[in-house]
Amino acid sequence: MILKNCKYIITQDKERSVLKDLDILIEGKEIKRIGKLLNQSDEIIDCSDKIIIPGFTNAHAHAGMTIFRGLYDDDELFDWLRKINHLEEKLSYDLVYSGAKLSIMEMLSKGIVAFIDTYFFPEATILASHEYGIRLVSGRVLEGSNLKNRMEENDVLIKKQDELFKVVADPYAIYANSEENLREIMDYAKKRNLRINMHAAETRHEVFDCYQKNKKYVIEYLDSIGFLQDSILAHCGWITSNEINILKERNATVVHNPISNMKLASHAFFPFSNYKEKEVCIALGTDSAASNNSLNLFDEMKTMALLNKNNHWDASLVKAQDTLDSATLNGAKATGFNNGSIEEGKLADLFAINAKEIELQPLNDKNIISNLVYSFNSPVEFTMINGNIVFRKEMLKQWQEEADKISQKINLKILTFGKDL
Ligand SMILES: [Zn+2]
Repeated sequence: MILKNCKYIITQDKERSVLKDLDILIEGKEIKRIGKLLNQSDEIIDCSDKIIIPGFTNAHAHAGMTIFRGLYDDDELFDWLRKINHLEEKLSYDLVYSGAKLSIMEMLSKGIVAFIDTYFFPEATILASHEYGIRLVSGRVLEGSNLKNRMEENDVLIKKQDELFKVVADPYAIYANSEENLREIMDYAKKRNLRINMHAAETRHEVFDCYQKNKKYVIEYLDSIGFLQDSILAHCGWITSNEINILKERNATVVHNPISNMKLASHAFFPFSNYKEKEVCIALGTDSAASNNSLNLFDEMKTMALLNKNNHWDASLVKAQDTLDSATLNGAKATGFNNGSIEEGKLADLFAINAKEIELQPLNDKNIISNLVYSFNSPVEFTMINGNIVFRKEMLKQWQEEADKISQKINLKILTFGKDL
């Protein structure tokens, strides 16, 4: 396949080159060549009015939770949690599957090609991901008294791994497990060569409890039991400078969730300047649609910039390019998939947007990255994963019909469950 005459290609290569009027040759699942090519392919897509962008990674999600979108939105954090947890007691495989389908349709229509997910019934999310052809990193949540069973269930998921799906060891958070459990999980992860994915240092409450119990802050504590090497850690807002040094040494990825954290008022401050100074890898996540309420990394990039400029009283601290790096290259580092940039030899995971969208104008070579981050808010033209086009704008009508049917099913259940709250 050839993407012909692309108006712009945002490569995200080392130099962050933005190329103009070139073709991209895709063979199988890979980007084979970028340049002025002959028409040596049976499938040619005219991209003369399109901007081609590396696919985004949503590095922290709970896709099944989209069934709770719009519920208890303006409640205080712990009240919100109590009500959501009450509903979760009645969850089923079918509900999680329905939520995951809505999430995946939304993500694909916004250029997201991979997501890291944590939720109940992970098999339901795995099935939905396969059906739509999106990449997924997930695992059974490893917590509680049935730890051995959960590890065995995670082993079953390991057998389902393929080029689109990877398994992690996910202890959820330190408060979900005893130290004995955490040590067992670490042992389990090491033996199977699994990366750790978990929430960390998300709320003051968690940090306070950890310090009371262990005389260590959350990251120090996790490091003391060997948890951090190459790990994926969501939130990390309540962090000391010593912990930032440890995160860098251990090559961990921190996943920033600016919208969810602001909405739940759980972060006073994300220490962006310290992370940036120490070159800690910052990926971007939406968290769930119950606390965001969208699954859109364009929104997340803009909010990441605004929040951290505002918090640090420094409009020049976060560049549009920093946020784009988080959504692409840093997300790819978190998942380990060979995507996140448009370069020869990389996976053909990318998306196209219409360069003529009104909100992008006036568009030129100088403002293109700024306009993408601060202005773009339309559906994408198409999204490609592993060399396959898995979403085209023309499919929107059909997906809206599908989403409407799923919504009716969800409403029937959730509105009944929530009656007594
Ligand atoms: Zn979360």
